[in-house]
Amino acid sequence: MTNNPVIIAGGGIGGLATALTLHQIGVPCIVLEAVREMRPLGVGINMQPNAVRELYDLGITGEDLDRVGIPAREWALVGLNGNDIYAEPRGILAGYKWPQYAVHRGRFHMLLHDKAVERLGPEAVRLGSRVTGYRKKPKGGVTALVEHADGSASEIDGGLLIGCDGINSAVRAQMHPDQPPIHWGGAVMWRGTTWGKPIRSGSSFVGLGTHRQRVVFYPISHPDPQTGLSMINWIAEVTMDNSEGWKRAGWFRQVSAADFAHHFDNWIWDWLNVPALISRADSIFENPMIDRDPVHTWQDGPVLLLGDAAHAMYPTGSNGGSQAIVDARILGQTLIEHGVTQEALAAYDKKLCGPISQLVLRNRGAGPFGLLNMVDERCGGTFDNIDEIIPSRERAEFMAGYKAAAGFAIENLNKAPQTIPAGSRVRIEPQTV
Ligand SMILES: Cc1cc2nc3c(=O)[nH]c(=O)nc-3n(C[C@H](O)[C@H](O)[C@H](O)COP(=O)(O)OP(=O)(O)OC[C@H]3O[C@@H](n4cnc5c(N)ncnc54)[C@H](O)[C@@H]3O)c2cc1C
Repeated sequence: MTNNPVIIAGGGIGGLATALTLHQIGVPCIVLEAVREMRPLGVGINMQPNAVRELYDLGITGEDLDRVGIPAREWALVGLNGNDIYAEPRGILAGYKWPQYAVHRGRFHMLLHDKAVERLGPEAVRLGSRVTGYRKKPKGGVTALVEHADGSASEIDGGLLIGCDGINSAVRAQMHPDQPPIHWGGAVMWRGTTWGKPIRSGSSFVGLGTHRQRVVFYPISHPDPQTGLSMINWIAEVTMDNSEGWKRAGWFRQVSAADFAHHFDNWIWDWLNVPALISRADSIFENPMIDRDPVHTWQDGPVLLLGDAAHAMYPTGSNGGSQAIVDARILGQTLIEHGVTQEALAAYDKKLCGPISQLVLRNRGAGPFGLLNMVDERCGGTFDNIDEIIPSRERAEFMAGYKAAAGFAIENLNKAPQTIPAGSRVRIEPQTV
């Protein structure tokens, strides 16, 4: 290997969790991030207990997370007639040793950014630096090809290159030049946040509707002490005919309520008014539900994929961001075992690429929302007594299967040893990094 730092392409949740992990275990690294300025973008995202455990081990505390989100207490699916299909406690209430957090994605991202700058120094997170590709060096190490916001270009040598550059990853595009384009299965999501009174447990994730048309909502802030209102994250979703592909330019755009609210005109119950939730939103974003077909490896010698660059997945299981954090920690673990070497990357690839690629495909099949498909198939979506449609044991087995596949089965997680034991450091030989 070489004398150079590890280069991290992309300073999103995955890239920053990787930087914090490498810093913790004593591996020098730099983050090259395309945007010129970090801004708190996005709406709600869930951090599952398997990721919160890793955040705690990174020294990110419950107090830190309470500033950007709220511990989730319940996960529930509700039919169109307002009847419960399934409900279960989440986080500590479910028996995990760690909470699940529903956070504002942008504020959580800024928290990671601020911690990274504080710990690694401002020069380690280089904004306005887009990685356009890489060149592997014959004697080990890699050169990242970088375009800067001022129009200049440079080449930066690294021991390893970790591609954390999201669903449109340039690193992945070079690693897998024949990969098919982004995959859209027909679902379109409109996402926003609206201040409102939290319902049910006060911190419940609720999915309401059918598998072809639904609304998901959950609070992502503690209630304001004066008003009792929380920031409610919501996603309104409709599945359309996708036979002609996605027609609009780009995958994300800001829209107004009038563009789509008609799909949810009559969605009013005494405990929920969806048209009001939508019309009172601060801003609304449209994006189709997209992912990528899995690839057979995430490694090309000294180059590795992590987070969405490796496994962009439908958000049905609320686990894309969590998995990016777990990826970073597993990478830290394999670096401790194998040093800053390609063998460490191979061990990570062997451990994660197969199972997480399966999870991508599982989420395509509706993930935990698969229960809504079952209700649709068996009774057309409306019912009086859910036990007559899907017995409670079958519902529980379905959910247990999903959680095991996604790596957050309670007992397994609770008894799993720390991914990176406290105080572990990578042995750096003078000639290796
Ligand atoms: C702006 C934005 C808003 C989002 N909003 C939501 C949301 O509301 N809800 C939700 O569930 N998920 C959202 N996501 C997705 C979610 O954050 C990710 O699925 C998850 O956190 C995985 O993170 P990641 O770091 O792998 O990828 P990402 O979060 O996509 O981060 C990738 C990072 O790499 C940077 N980058 C891209 N290309 C290059 C390049 N060539 N060189 C250098 N840097 C590059 C990007 O600017 C970005 O900072 C959003 C992602 C983004 C980027």
